[in-house]
Amino acid sequence: MTDRTIENDEFKEIHSLMGMLQNLDVGLVVLDREYNIQLWNNFMESHSGMNPSEVRDQNLFSIFPEINKEWFVHKAECVFQLNTRAFTTWEQRPYLFKFKNYRPITGSAEFMYQNTTIIPMDASTGQVERIGIIVYDVTDVAVNKSELKAINEKFKRLSRTDKLSGLYNRGYWEECLGNEFKRAKRTETPSSLVVFDIDHFKQVNDVYGHAAGDIAIKFVSDALIQNIRETDIAGRYGGEEFAAILIDTKAEEAAVFAERMRQFIEDSSIRYYQEEFKFTISIGIAQLTQDTDSAHQWFELADSALYQAKEKGRNQVQIADPEK
Ligand code: GH3
Ligand code: MG
Ligand code: MG
Repeated sequence: MTDRTIENDEFKEIHSLMGMLQNLDVGLVVLDREYNIQLWNNFMESHSGMNPSEVRDQNLFSIFPEINKEWFVHKAECVFQLNTRAFTTWEQRPYLFKFKNYRPITGSAEFMYQNTTIIPMDASTGQVERIGIIVYDVTDVAVNKSELKAINEKFKRLSRTDKLSGLYNRGYWEECLGNEFKRAKRTETPSSLVVFDIDHFKQVNDVYGHAAGDIAIKFVSDALIQNIRETDIAGRYGGEEFAAILIDTKAEEAAVFAERMRQFIEDSSIRYYQEEFKFTISIGIAQLTQDTDSAHQWFELADSALYQAKEKGRNQVQIADPEK
């Protein structure tokens, strides 16, 4: 028996195995040492639209230019050289072969997510002559997992957000304050904390009702969101109390922002059904210094500045004295 017939016998064996594997819902591809296609099962045919005679002896990368050659060869060479299996997962790369997704249940996916196993074949001489790629359609798993992730992210966002204002709620905002305290201390960059409180808000509620009060709260929140930078962190930490952490900002710069907010609110009026009313806000500012020992102390400094603003007649901005 010549080497050639051994090879042919092996091929027959593979083909009889293939007969069984044709009915499985997995892709099966056999490649030779040059990455030329030797076998191509039903699954591959029906998803690629190319039949085995079309792809036979064709180079994998010329037929499927979307396959990242460097990445795949790196994996496959391990199989050829070490005679071990290798795997690719949809989480690393969504697919090896770009096939359309036809499954109705997972209609949200445009293409088929795939995991693959690359197996060594024909290693009887000690040299792996061919490799097999088993392609699993894992679109269901991938879509479920992606959807779960999206839901989790939505829950996370909701659990951090105050419903009325859309700002961070107190719990999450305090967490951010703690983080920013540590970051600013470590990097010795300036950072300022600004706290706002609506003046005589009880009167707003008493005269125009709680629902009108809520509109005023929403109005201040929207103004805050519009006026801060993307990196700044704004939260509603009490009923009509708001706070913003201004990253890389000195107290004097924070005061410019605060004054703009104060003036804007003073100039605005709220329409509520037939009524129209005005209100003002008081603002306290504290810049973090090397003497500030904790996030709590930083907040207390800003809050005491706010208290001073109230004491001095409201509708104004006060900066905390860093010496105190
Ligand atoms: P000051 O100028 O000293 O801040 O006076 P104030 O009347 O605003 O006093 P205070 O801050 O103590 O009062 C806050 C009021 O805000 C009391 C509460 O009824 C009202 N309030 C708290 N949360 C909400 C809310 O979510 N909606 C409405 N409409 N009112 C709220
Ligand atoms: Mg208050
Ligand atoms: Mg108030």
